[in-house]
Parts: sequence; C-alpha cells; structure tokens
Amino acid sequence: MKPTDKKDESVRKTLKQMSWKEIAGEINWVSAIFLVITPLLAVILLPLYIYESGWSWGLSAFLFTLYSISNLSITVCYHRYFSHRSYDVPTWVQFLFLLVGSMAFQGSALRWSTDHRRHHRVVDTDEDPYTINKGFFHAHLGWMLFKDRHPDVDVFPRDLEKNRWVFLQDKYYVLIATFMGFIVPGFLGMAFGFGFWPGMLIGGLTRIVLSQHSTFLINSAAHTFGNQPYTDKNSARDSFTMSVLTFGEGYHNYHHFFQVDYRNGIRWYQWDPTKWVIRTMAWIGMAKRLKRVSADEILKARLAMEEKRLVAKGASIERVRALRERISAAQARWKSIQAEFAKYKTDRQTAMSDAWNKVLLEKRAELELARIEMNNALTAWKIYVKTWQRATAA
Ligand SMILES: [Zn+2]
Ligand SMILES: [Zn+2]
Repeated sequence: MKPTDKKDESVRKTLKQMSWKEIAGEINWVSAIFLVITPLLAVILLPLYIYESGWSWGLSAFLFTLYSISNLSITVCYHRYFSHRSYDVPTWVQFLFLLVGSMAFQGSALRWSTDHRRHHRVVDTDEDPYTINKGFFHAHLGWMLFKDRHPDVDVFPRDLEKNRWVFLQDKYYVLIATFMGFIVPGFLGMAFGFGFWPGMLIGGLTRIVLSQHSTFLINSAAHTFGNQPYTDKNSARDSFTMSVLTFGEGYHNYHHFFQVDYRNGIRWYQWDPTKWVIRTMAWIGMAKRLKRVSADEILKARLAMEEKRLVAKGASIERVRALRERISAAQARWKSIQAEFAKYKTDRQTAMSDAWNKVLLEKRAELELARIEMNNALTAWKIYVKTWQRATAA
C-alpha cells in the first residue's frame, strides 16, 4: 500500500479542542468497543457462572493453560519472531504462529509488528504509537481507542508484506481470530467436560481480557517501573515483577538496547519463559539461528551506563576510566590465554610428552590467574559503584 500523502490536521488538536463530532470521527470504534465491552462482559458473566455452577481446579488449569499459550503466542511469535526476527523458523512454524497468535485478539501480525517496529525506532516521541510520554493510560490502552493518523500507518515492512501467510492472516484476521479466540476454546471446553459456553467464557472471553492486559503492561508499566541498567536514553525499564506478569518481557531496558537478542532475561535464572520456549523449539528442531548479543557487548553497555551515572554523581573520571580499563585489559588477557590454551591442548604432535604436560600445566595456571584478575577487576568496579550509590542515596 502507498503512504497517505496528507496528514490529518485534526490529530494536532487536543481532545479538549475538538467537537463531539470530531472526537467521534477520531475513535477507532471496532477496537474501542471490543476493548471496553470484553472486560465488562467478563466481570459480569464470570461471577454469574461461578455463582451458578461453581469453580474447580480443572477450570483454573484450563484458564491458566490457555492464558499462557495466548501470551506466549504474542511474545514468542508476534514479538520476538515477526517483529524482531530474533531467530528463524520454517514456513510451517510461521503458519502455526499466525494461527495461534490470532487467539490473543491483538490484531494481525502484520499490523502488530509494524506498530512495534515503529515503537522501537522512534520510542518516546509523538511518532511512537504507544509513547509513555502521553501518559500511562495512553501507552496501556488509550492509543488503541483512536485511529492511528500516522502518515505511514499503512506502509508495512517488506519482509512482512511479502510473506503470503502474514498477508492472508491480516486479510482474514477477524474470521481467524474469532475461530481461534472463541470457537476453539469452546470446543476445548466441551472436550474437557466443562461445556461449550463455559469454554468460551473462561478460555475465550476471560482469557482474552487477562492476556491482553498482560501484553499492554509491556507498553505502560515496563516503560514506567524498574531500573535502567543499559541505557537512560529511553523510558524502558527492567523489572522482575513485570517479567513475571508478562512472560519475560519485563527486562525491557535490555530489550530496547539489544532488540535483536532472542532473550530478554539474559541470565539463566532471570524469569523469561519466552526465551525458554524459543530454546526448547530450537532443541527439537523447530527454530534455528537464535540471535544473541555477546556477554562482552552486554558488559560493555552496562559498564558504560554505570560510568555515566558515576560521573554525573561527581566521581573522578580518571579513577572510573582506570577501573574500566583494568576490566578490559583483564578480559583481553583472559581471552588470549584461553585461545592459546585451547590450541596447545590439541597440539597432537607433542601431546602427552613430559614437556607438553609441563607447558600445559603452566598455561592452565596462567588461565586461572587471568580469570581471578578478571573477577577482581569486576569486583573492584562493583565496590566502587556501590560506594558511590550508598553515598549518594544517604
Ligand atoms: Zn520489541
Ligand atoms: Zn517498549
């Protein structure tokens, strides 16, 4: 599609300056009605159902399972695959992604990913579709209540537009989403003995509302609460609580800095079920070429951010630089010894001779010393950072 040439003047007016008729013209009625009606229906119908028929562990498991699949279909498929291409999958998996992704009722992958790429490109500006600078409510939900008047709203990235399955999902989105989001949970409800309508109410309606707001938190809360270990140039934050609520998307500061990484929680213990699902998919052969940023790059970014904070607080720039250089030097030395050690270990010509054994031992000791020096350099840095943090917090 071609970009719209003219910008709609009415978007430049604030709501207060518009007449009721103008406001009505700005509302995205389909999206607005859906986003208002579904939670209302859920809070009325669900208590009525529980009052009439009771609740069971089976229903909790049913809701939680579909809720998890729904959320992961957005984080694994729409976000980390279609928006960021942080790993590769074959066509049949893409087809599956598009089918399952429809159940969350968050729009087609084409539009979701186009918006999301724009969010990253122009984060926190007026061009950002869900900019936090227009307030928490706007970022969470408000942006979907009004028509997007951005001149490039119908200009889609080439890689997505030329994908036949992405195009078809967008074209028949309402049909596919209704089927996957309501009818399938209804049938699943029947299959598990709860009945078709309870299946639709719990696995469909209630699950959609919960799952939507979990995703919306990434645009609102993950740009409001938490810390900024990698950059303070945008509003994205890292937060464990948000990660629990959003299936791993809460390490949002990291994600905005290294958007290509298939992980958001980089440490093995950081709560990122999305990363675990992608890794499992790779393990069983469904995904490949998982992109990850090297540990060195990550450390560099973190240290640069800490340095910026230290200097802003008044720490000596010479001291900060010296401590950082100590880390870089120790890292470089450890790497070169590691390479030498690996090469020497596989030196088959002299392998196992007495001389070879002695040199190998020497190299092993050197490697260990280099590792200790690297840890010490990092510890020295941490102590220095903490001292300043404590001093300025007091
Ligand atoms: Zn993203
Ligand atoms: Zn963001």
